[in-house]
Amino acid sequence: MRSKTRMVHGGITRDEQTGAVSVPIYQVSTFKQDGIGKLRGYEYSRTGNPTRTALESVIAELENGTHGFAFSSGMSAITTILLLFSAGDHIILTDDVYGGSYRLITKVLKRFNLEYTFVDTSNIENVENAVKENTKAILIETPTNPLLKITDIRKMAAITSNNDMLLIVDNTFASPYWQNPLNLGADIVLHSATKYIGGHSDVIGGLVSVKSEPLAEKIHFLQNSVGAVLGPQDSWLLMRGIKTLALRMEAIEASTKKIVDFLLKHKRVMKVYYPGLPTHPGHVLAKSQTRGFGGMISFDVGDGNYAEEILKRVNYFTLAESLGAVESLISLPAKMTHASIPSKRRLELGISDGLIRLSVGIEDVEDLIEDLAQALGDA
Ligand SMILES: *Cc1c(COP(=O)(O)O)cnc(C)c1O
Repeated sequence: MRSKTRMVHGGITRDEQTGAVSVPIYQVSTFKQDGIGKLRGYEYSRTGNPTRTALESVIAELENGTHGFAFSSGMSAITTILLLFSAGDHIILTDDVYGGSYRLITKVLKRFNLEYTFVDTSNIENVENAVKENTKAILIETPTNPLLKITDIRKMAAITSNNDMLLIVDNTFASPYWQNPLNLGADIVLHSATKYIGGHSDVIGGLVSVKSEPLAEKIHFLQNSVGAVLGPQDSWLLMRGIKTLALRMEAIEASTKKIVDFLLKHKRVMKVYYPGLPTHPGHVLAKSQTRGFGGMISFDVGDGNYAEEILKRVNYFTLAESLGAVESLISLPAKMTHASIPSKRRLELGISDGLIRLSVGIEDVEDLIEDLAQALGDA
């Protein structure tokens, strides 16, 4: 089955009992037992729910895993995965990870003595040098937010497999349509399904897939123990989102390329960050591990006040955090998603006050370009 077909027909996609061509929403907490311990596959919906199972089977298939897991948010997926580790264990993370992951590690899990080191994982030597005796995992994002840096998934997998560690990839930005880290040697892939997978700004969810039976058993044990599971209604919404994921990702990428071309030519735009650009430092690597470059663009207009003006003037780009939806979004990382990072550190990372981030949606690209042109002050 090819990728686009898998989005429609992958995993459990219908109800065997009735023939319904969409999996019903099993809005139920518990299941009648035919005798003590005699179950018809389900017992209690924290442990397993048929609608959630259907979604879990789809994400497993989309990521070429053997098992899938659905959580109540991307953060609860990450939290549950990090509970695989114990006090005194050490993990290495991409230095510009999602702010929520940064907060979880440095403010919450730190209290449980999970040790961590943040490095620029796009440079493999940084990672090799950060490995310690108690290092148990590397957690990366590629591309990163907001500078879209690329990390070599295969090389990270070489490090983790030689050292008996786990490679965890947050694949939210690429989506399973463009990038499949399990194929490149990762042990665990996860998504904030709130973004591209849901795709319509109407559900918060997290998805995980693995390809090893023992690891799947551990994650299911934690999923059931912690209980941060996705409800049946939201599971259904994510399945509906997945049916159009391929179409959305193709449309978004085509528009993104045109917007990048427009920004590159604009005299008031000083720098454009997009992994699809041959001048992007991660371009060749990105080409070797993904099938597409996605719909996120960052560009620097050199000045924070001007950037704020642009954000006020746009009509079709909604000023909001989040990404990956049908509607285009715009944000100012220095004042929004990355505001909690001290300004000196922010500048070291390259997140200047004039850096604007776009999440391109599926509107007519001519409207989007005209909107940006007027917001940048053309005519
Ligand atoms: C949004 C996001 C998360 C967190 O997901 P939620 O669904 O908001 O909990 C994690 N990682 C990345 C890369 C994200 O963009």
